[in-house]
Amino acid sequence: MIKNFGFHVPTEVQFGVGKIAGVGEAVARFGNRCLLVTGPKSGSVRHYLPRLISLLESAGISVAHFDGVIPNPTTDTIHAGALMAAKHRADVVLGVGGGSSMDAAKAIAVEATHEGSCWDYLFYKDAKPTEKTLPVVAVSTTSGTGAQVTQVSVVTHTATRDKSALYNSLIFPRVAIVDPELMLSVPKYVTACTGFDTFTHAFESAIHVNTSPYVELMAWEAISLVFSNLPAALQDGSNMEARTALAYADTLAGMCIANAGVTLPHGIGMAIGGMYPHIAHGEALALNYPAFMRFTYASAVKPFAKLGRMLNPKLKDVDDETAAKKSCDELDLFLKQIGLWKGLEEMQVPEEELELLAKQCRVLPDYMNNPRVASEADMLHLMQQCFRR
Ligand code: NAD
Repeated sequence: MIKNFGFHVPTEVQFGVGKIAGVGEAVARFGNRCLLVTGPKSGSVRHYLPRLISLLESAGISVAHFDGVIPNPTTDTIHAGALMAAKHRADVVLGVGGGSSMDAAKAIAVEATHEGSCWDYLFYKDAKPTEKTLPVVAVSTTSGTGAQVTQVSVVTHTATRDKSALYNSLIFPRVAIVDPELMLSVPKYVTACTGFDTFTHAFESAIHVNTSPYVELMAWEAISLVFSNLPAALQDGSNMEARTALAYADTLAGMCIANAGVTLPHGIGMAIGGMYPHIAHGEALALNYPAFMRFTYASAVKPFAKLGRMLNPKLKDVDDETAAKKSCDELDLFLKQIGLWKGLEEMQVPEEELELLAKQCRVLPDYMNNPRVASEADMLHLMQQCFRR
C-alpha cells in the first residue's frame, strides 16, 4: 500500500539551455534593488558576469555585487554580505554559483533582516527567521547540491570548527534558474565531486525514514542519470547532453532532500567539512561512502540491491541479499572511475583527531535517519575505516 506523505517544492524552476536570459525578469518580480552574491570576480564568475549584470540592468535593477563567497562559506562571509545587502537596501538576493554562493545568498537574506548572526537561526535554535527574510533567486552553476530548490543553507563557524545549517521554508529560492550552459566551465574534479554529491542526495533520500513515493520516483531517476552521465561529463566537459542530464538530476535530487532528507554520510560529511574546511563537500561524502555502505546495506537490502543492479546489471541474476552486499564493491569501482577513491589520511586529517571527529559526526541528527543508527563506538569504527584507502 502507498504510504501517507506530504510533498512541497515552492520554488519555480526555469530549466534549460539559455534560461539565464530570464534572470532580469525573475529578479524584478521581487523589487528593483538586488544584492548579487557570487564567488570572487576573478574566479569562475568571470565567464558569465558581464552578461549577468547586463541582463539585470536591462530589467531596471540596481545591483550591488558581493563577490566574497568562499567554498564552504563561513559566518564571516555571511556577515560581510549581510552588511552590503542592508547598505544597498536590497529588496532581493540573487545567489549565482555552486552551493556555496546559493547558500550564502539564503543566509544573507536572513541576517540582513534580523538581529544577530545567521548562526543564531540554525535549525535547532529557538530564534526563527520571519517574513522579513529577503526573497532569494538562485542560479546554479554546478550540478551537485540541489540548493536551488532546497530550504537549507549550510554555513561554517570557523572558531568552533562547526558546520551546520539554517533550515526554513522562507529560504526556499522563489525562482531557480538551472541553465546547463553555465556549467560547461566546471573543472573536471569539481564535476566529479558535485556529481557524486547529487548521487548521495538521491540515494540517502530513497533510504531515509521520511522517504515517499514521489521522492523515490525522483531519486532513482536522478541516480540513473548520474551513473550514465557523470563519466561522460568527466571525459568531455563540453558534452552538453551530459551536463544537461546532470543538471536535471541535481534538481531532482535537491527536491528529494527538501522532502525527505539526508542520512549518515551527510552527518559525517558535515563534521568533516566543519573540522577540515579544505575538504570539499563532495569529497567528504566520497571519503565515507565505502564505510557507510558496508555498515548499512544489511539493514536496507532492497534499495542497496537496486543500487547494486544499477551499477552492475549482472547482479539481476543473484538474490537481493547478495546484490545488496555486492553494491558496496560496485560503488567502490564507481568512486575509482570518477577519481574520488580517497581516505581521510590522504586529505591530511590527523589520525589522532579521529575520536573527536567521530563525536562530531553525531552532533547533527542525520545519522539517526539512517536505516542503521551508529552508536558512538560504531562511529569511531567508521572513521577508522575511512582513514586509509
Ligand atoms: P562550491 O559552490 O563551493 O563550488 C566549488 C568550486 O567550483 C568553487 O571554487 C567555485 O568557484 C567553482 N565553480 C562553481 N561554478 C563554476 C562554474 N560554472 N565554472 C567553473 N567553476 C565553478 O561547491 P558546491 O559543491 O556546489 O557547493 C558546496 C556547498 O554547498 C557546501 O558548503 C555544502 O555543504 C553545501 N550544500 C548545500 C546544500 C543545500 O541544500 N543547501 C546541499 C548540499 C551541499
